[in-house]
Amino acid sequence: MKVFNSMTRKKEEFVPIKPGEVKMYCCGPTVYNYIHVGNARPIILFDVLRRYLEYRGYQVTFAQNFTDVDDKIIKRANAEGKTAAEIAETYIKEYFTDAHGLGVRDATIHPKATENMDAIIAMVQVLVEKGYAYEKNGDVYYRTRKFPRYGCLSGQSIEDLEAGARIDVNDVKEDPMDFALWKAAKPGEPYWNSPWGNGRPGWHIECSAMSGRYLGKTIDIHCGGQDLQFPHHENEIAQSEAANGCKFVNYWMHNGFLNIDNCKMSKSQGNFCTVRDAAAVYGYEPIRFFMLSAHYRSPINYSRESLEQAQAALARLYSAAENLDFLIKNGAEGGITEAETAVTATFDGYRQRFDDAMDDDLNTADAIGVLFELVRAVNTAVEGKPTRAFAEICKKMMLELTDVLGLLYRKQDCDLDCRVEALIQERQTARKAKKFAEADRIREELKGMGIELMDTPMGVKWKKI
Ligand code: AMP
Ligand code: ZN
Repeated sequence: MKVFNSMTRKKEEFVPIKPGEVKMYCCGPTVYNYIHVGNARPIILFDVLRRYLEYRGYQVTFAQNFTDVDDKIIKRANAEGKTAAEIAETYIKEYFTDAHGLGVRDATIHPKATENMDAIIAMVQVLVEKGYAYEKNGDVYYRTRKFPRYGCLSGQSIEDLEAGARIDVNDVKEDPMDFALWKAAKPGEPYWNSPWGNGRPGWHIECSAMSGRYLGKTIDIHCGGQDLQFPHHENEIAQSEAANGCKFVNYWMHNGFLNIDNCKMSKSQGNFCTVRDAAAVYGYEPIRFFMLSAHYRSPINYSRESLEQAQAALARLYSAAENLDFLIKNGAEGGITEAETAVTATFDGYRQRFDDAMDDDLNTADAIGVLFELVRAVNTAVEGKPTRAFAEICKKMMLELTDVLGLLYRKQDCDLDCRVEALIQERQTARKAKKFAEADRIREELKGMGIELMDTPMGVKWKKI
């Protein structure tokens, strides 16, 4: 597999540190609000990366943190008369509701900053001892100029970065480019005891500390949105490499922005739509499909049209899958025919092209293209009266690819299925007994439930209207 490494700005062959194993870390949300559709982009894409690596046989350990103490959380807590911990707990729960709705699997571990204060403080201590950090009035700052590779990820020298930085004259820092590792507690803020007095961590240090604790000093993949490259990931590199004395990350992967009217969707700009609200209009799964229909590094524009296109495309996939389910129950008995064998012989080719697309820096857009070619071929092959066995092989092949993308996860409505099947049986019995008025009444009852019946040579099919 080749991945575009933001550090080298090249597509590189992916070689894990330990054969067969992958350690990956993704910067997770700051939990003070519902996630917006832009935040969902890395969550969905790196879920697909993890699924694909597993499909290719790797054992993946995936850590995605929650930033559960920070200025925005504290501000919200104060505004609502709650504790920061209560706000964080609420929005962690809401995160999981949305992530599960989007078909995102839980990470192997979801570490929280507040539960890793010991590791965070220990790392700051090492940086102070090694001369990379200093204390000022209960704050601790990273001495950026002491780390020669500072700027390596964003491809800028410290002088370039300094030119673009906002300089605060009241700064207590030795150098405007230094950044906070630890902040002294202000009144009304949550705090933890430390060698520098009561305080709380800066944002960047938590990822260095938790990545090191849960995945090791050097990891295979670190990912997040492209806005995190500077300063967040640059600072993570400076902290981890100075403290641990070894390379922090082998492959950096960053997703492009999700835009709305050609501007980045963001909470601070106020041009955002929460995943919850978008899902209420379009459903969760079309949001996932939409994200995967473009390459993860390209910008994408969130619009009604693109979500409606995603809905329509997904409906085609579901319809093909439901048709196969019907044929698995109602198709011809016996082993698969010669003509059907000729079709299944082409499946390896589809799988290969799907893998080739995903191997090329996770090209989900092309992979979806291959999936639809497969669906079209299967739809044609099952016209007429295919065998059940063939329908089963087709369904399995289709699910193999949709599982990698995490699509087609919508649960069948078991209650509805059972009620519909029972009414169809009643209607069949009425028809056999030539009680046509009763049969029509049942058809109308089903219509009232939003179910349309289709009489086919292989039996009665139904669909939601
Ligand atoms: P934040 O809550 O802003 O720290 O963002 C959490 C994650 O979502 C980070 O990985 C960001 O890079 C990512 N993110 C935020 N806004 C967008 C956007 N409009 N498009 C893509 N990714 C985004
Ligand atoms: Zn991070």
